[in-house]
Amino acid sequence: MTQEKMRTRIDGGLVWTGKAMQPLSLVIENGKIAALVPPDQAQTHPAEQVANFFGQWILPGGIDLHVHISDGSETFFPGSCCAAAGGITTVMDMAPFHACVTPEQFKAKVALAEKECVVDFGLIAGIVVAQEDLNHLAELDKMGAAFFKIFMPADPPITTQILWSAIQIAARTGLRLALHAEETACFQNVSDWGDPLAFPHSRPPVAETSAIAQALEMAHAAGAPIHICHVSSARSCELIAWGKAHGTDVTAETAAHYLIFNEKDFARYGARVKTTPPLRGEQDSGSLWAALADGTLDALACDHYTECFSAALKEPLAIESAPAGIAGLETSLPLIFAEGVSKGKLSLERFVDVTSKQPAHLARISDQKGSLEPGKEADFFVIDPGEEWKVQSQGAFSRISTTPYENWTLNSRITQTWLRGQQVWDGKNILKTAGYGRWISSRSSGQ
Ligand SMILES: [Zn+2]
Repeated sequence: MTQEKMRTRIDGGLVWTGKAMQPLSLVIENGKIAALVPPDQAQTHPAEQVANFFGQWILPGGIDLHVHISDGSETFFPGSCCAAAGGITTVMDMAPFHACVTPEQFKAKVALAEKECVVDFGLIAGIVVAQEDLNHLAELDKMGAAFFKIFMPADPPITTQILWSAIQIAARTGLRLALHAEETACFQNVSDWGDPLAFPHSRPPVAETSAIAQALEMAHAAGAPIHICHVSSARSCELIAWGKAHGTDVTAETAAHYLIFNEKDFARYGARVKTTPPLRGEQDSGSLWAALADGTLDALACDHYTECFSAALKEPLAIESAPAGIAGLETSLPLIFAEGVSKGKLSLERFVDVTSKQPAHLARISDQKGSLEPGKEADFFVIDPGEEWKVQSQGAFSRISTTPYENWTLNSRITQTWLRGQQVWDGKNILKTAGYGRWISSRSSGQ
C-alpha cells in the first residue's frame, strides 16, 4: 500500500468547518478528505495511521495568489519550502518580465516547478510589459494559467493602448488580468534620499489610485475580470468598493506588510520595507484591515520577493538603490493570525476566506482546494494559538538573509502543514523532497 492510498485519521484537533471551529476527527483517504466525524464516532473509521493533535487548530491550507519564487534571488525549492513552513500549500507563481508569455515558456516552467516544488503550484502568465507579450494569452488560458499579470511601471511604462488591449483579452477569454497598478506619470523626483519618507513620496498614492480608476473604467466597459495586486491605500479600497457596487468584475488583494507597517517604518527598517507600491500612512493600514474584513479586499497575498537580499548580504542596500521586495511566505499567515485574528481586527471566518477559500475560487481551483470538506484535497495547516515563537531569518528556508520581522515574537505558531493528506512540515523540518508539489491547472475545475 502506498502512503497515498493509506487511510489516515486525525483525532483531537479543532477543525474549521466553514463556519466555526469544532472538535472533529478528520478522515483522509487517497489524499482527500473522506469524512469529518464527531470524536465519539471516530472509532467507526479505522485507519492505518492515526494521529492526535491535542486541541490544536486545523485550518485550510493557505493559497497565495502572488509570489515570486521563480524570480529575484529565490528559486522553486527554497521558495516552496518557505510556503510549507508558513502554512501555504498552494502558490501561484509570477514570472520575471516576458518569461511566461508563450506556450513553450509555460510548459517549461511547469516542468521545472514540478521537479522542484514541495507544495502545489499554479502559474500566472506574464509578466506583460510590452504589446507582443499579449500575443499568446488565449492559448495560455487554455493551458491552465491562473491569471495574467501586467506591470504598469515597467521601463518603458505600459501604454494605455497595451492596457486596453489586455483588458479586451481578459474580457474575451475570461482569464483574469492581475494589475500592478501604478501610473508613472504621477511619480516624483527625489531631491533628498536622506529623508526617510523619500521613497514613499516618490511614488505617491495618486499613482496607484489613478491607475486603478482607469483600469476599473476600462474593465467595466469591456466586461473584463480584473484583479488589483497589493492594494496599499485607503482611497484605492474606496475605488474598488465602488467598482464592485457598480457591477465591475474586480477583485483585489493586499499583503501583510501594508497592514502591519506604515511609511513611518522607513525610518527604522529602511530598505527592509521597500516594496512597490510603497507603504502608506497609518490610517491607510487601518482602512486595509477594514477592507479585508468587509470583503472589499478578497485575498491576502504575500508578494514574496527576495532580490533585495542575498545570502552574502547582511544588510540591504541604501533605499534608493535597493531592489524593492519583501519576503513573506513564511510569515504571512502567522503574522495576520497574530495581528488580525488575535487582536480582533479580522474574524477567523474572514481569515480563512482571504487566505484560502477566495483565492481558490479566484484561481479556479475551488473544486479541489480552499476548504476542509469531503472530496477536497486534504491540504491544511495546524496552528497552536498559544505557542509563542520568534521570527528569525537564521534557519528559515528562504535564500534571503534577513527580514523586517526579525526577532518579532508572534503568539501563534504553525506546527504542521499537510498537503494532499501527507505531512510536509513538522514545525522544524520539511518532510518531503523536491517534486512532491504538483501543478494545479486552473482549467481543471471547469469553471
Ligand atoms: Zn509582485
